[in-house]
Amino acid sequence: MPRKKKKKTIDWLIQNYMPFFEKFGMNEGNIIRHHKSWKENRPDYVEDYLWFIFNHLLHENGHQSEDIIGFYERNEIIYREMISFRRRIEGKKANEIYKAYNRNSVELAIESNADIGVEYDFTIITPSDCEACQHLTNKIISKKEALENDTIPYEKCARKQGCVCLLSIMPRRDENGRLIFI
Ligand SMILES: [Zn+2]
Repeated sequence: MPRKKKKKTIDWLIQNYMPFFEKFGMNEGNIIRHHKSWKENRPDYVEDYLWFIFNHLLHENGHQSEDIIGFYERNEIIYREMISFRRRIEGKKANEIYKAYNRNSVELAIESNADIGVEYDFTIITPSDCEACQHLTNKIISKKEALENDTIPYEKCARKQGCVCLLSIMPRRDENGRLIFI
């Protein structure tokens, strides 16, 4: 149900997003100055400006990151903020962004556990209120399947607020319940 909303301003952006922008080295002056030139060529919707910044940050993170774990961690922060904005402010499910978020967190988990020394798979964690994903509860999938990211039916997710299914690392165990060392 579309609600009548007050037009959001650059002040609103500053009030709500400064802690996020600061994580990426942007200060209030940068945000305001850049907004002035950005709006010269287009209708001034601050929401669009924020999407521009999100995409810019993803792009820059891809180009400037030298540490692979830091790259995935920063991507995660950006995706999380995009999803939250899409869901809370724009009232959409954002499942396409959520899918990219999950893929990134699988990459992050693999990189962070590169030296773990045991064999592992991934398991799917689903909330009880998502009918489309219920049958996947505790399902074990391989690392390769987790990277392919086709198991969770993101686009069919029935949750009004959008999919929240997660992929989590699950060490393999032998028949005696012991970890399998590589
Ligand atoms: Zn779901």
